[in-house]
Amino acid sequence: MLEGSFFIMQENLQKHAELALKVGVNLQKGQGLLINAPIEAAEFVRIVVKKAYELGAKNVHIEWKDDELTLLKMENAPMEVLEEFPEWRKDALTGMAKDGYAILSIYGENPDLLNGIQPEKVSAVTRASSIALKEYRNYMMNDLSRWSIIGYPTSGWAEKVYPELSTEEAVNALWKEIFRISRTDRDNPVEEWKQHNERLRQAREYLNKKSYAKLHYTAEGTDLTIELPEGHIWHGGAAVAADGVTFNPNIPTEEVFTMPHKYGVNGKVTSTMPLSFQGQLIENFTLTFKDGKVVEYTCEKGEEALKQLLNADGDGASRLGEVALVPHESPVSQSGKVFYNTLFDENASCHLALGKAYPTNIEGGADMDEEQLDKHGVNDSIVHEDFMIGSATMNIDGITKDGTSEAIFRNGAWAIDFE
Ligand code: ZN
Ligand code: ZN
Repeated sequence: MLEGSFFIMQENLQKHAELALKVGVNLQKGQGLLINAPIEAAEFVRIVVKKAYELGAKNVHIEWKDDELTLLKMENAPMEVLEEFPEWRKDALTGMAKDGYAILSIYGENPDLLNGIQPEKVSAVTRASSIALKEYRNYMMNDLSRWSIIGYPTSGWAEKVYPELSTEEAVNALWKEIFRISRTDRDNPVEEWKQHNERLRQAREYLNKKSYAKLHYTAEGTDLTIELPEGHIWHGGAAVAADGVTFNPNIPTEEVFTMPHKYGVNGKVTSTMPLSFQGQLIENFTLTFKDGKVVEYTCEKGEEALKQLLNADGDGASRLGEVALVPHESPVSQSGKVFYNTLFDENASCHLALGKAYPTNIEGGADMDEEQLDKHGVNDSIVHEDFMIGSATMNIDGITKDGTSEAIFRNGAWAIDFE
């Protein structure tokens, strides 16, 4: 590496850490910080931790993850171990959330890691952690905690995105894309994010004012109508946590999103990018919905994984929990790359999610019990998996309560002039 690029790299790492803390979790004086990170990211984590203490963190706790160790356990541990999530770990994580810790995930999974592992084992681990960590995750799903996910190019992930490069070159290339897409490499990223959040605010406020009854999607292979529940709320960009402090759950983020009515989705939708689920890729698939549920599907690659996903629980995984609008000309799609990582790929284009809806996407959702959530059309599931449906030819219309159709997206871009 050249000396000049070494300094740029160091500067960007500092700015990336600052983004994570100031824009991402918006760490406050006296607050604890829980960091989930791959062991490969140790050098970057140390920068984050140093800055966190400078900002007044009372304690920083790291939950390290290592792909090699995950794999060894998956290959060797007996099923009864995989099926169980240790109580002490659940208590520790939930305890920190309860204690008001901000939660930062430094994220860069190898999408192929679990390819050779029996799907039943992967499902068992996912199910066990979903159930054990329900309360911990609720702190995030309901914005009770301030939380954020920021990208980090682990070698396994980078090699997947750039198979033609050496590992070192691949990691550098992926850093470059992460810095660009996250706006880290701008002169003043914190200020850039203020402006970006402002644009997203205008879009979500427009949609909230309109309060459409339905959205109608048309594109090649797609003709889908999505009913939006009464009292649905569009979010996007900065969110406000229970303590009144703003934060950005995802860096990057380009979406405004709300929840579909779990019983009100009809028609057919075609995926436009691969979906990486439990280390397996699901490609070129279609889903046909009737009254909110997937009743038919086709899939060119990864059908077994798609089946696992749709049957992950009762029927929550075969209904939708999120509908998100992203212009096709986003920084992610400008790269023309598939990142095999939802944090990046979901910001490429319009998407939907199978599984759990965010209760914050409906008025009073955080206070509803399970029965009320169901009555209002709010989907519940142990999974939440985004998949891309947007393209340069996608049109979306909003259908008002009196049945009038209004253009929202034309040819993959906003059809609305926000003032
Ligand atoms: Zn989304
Ligand atoms: Zn999502």
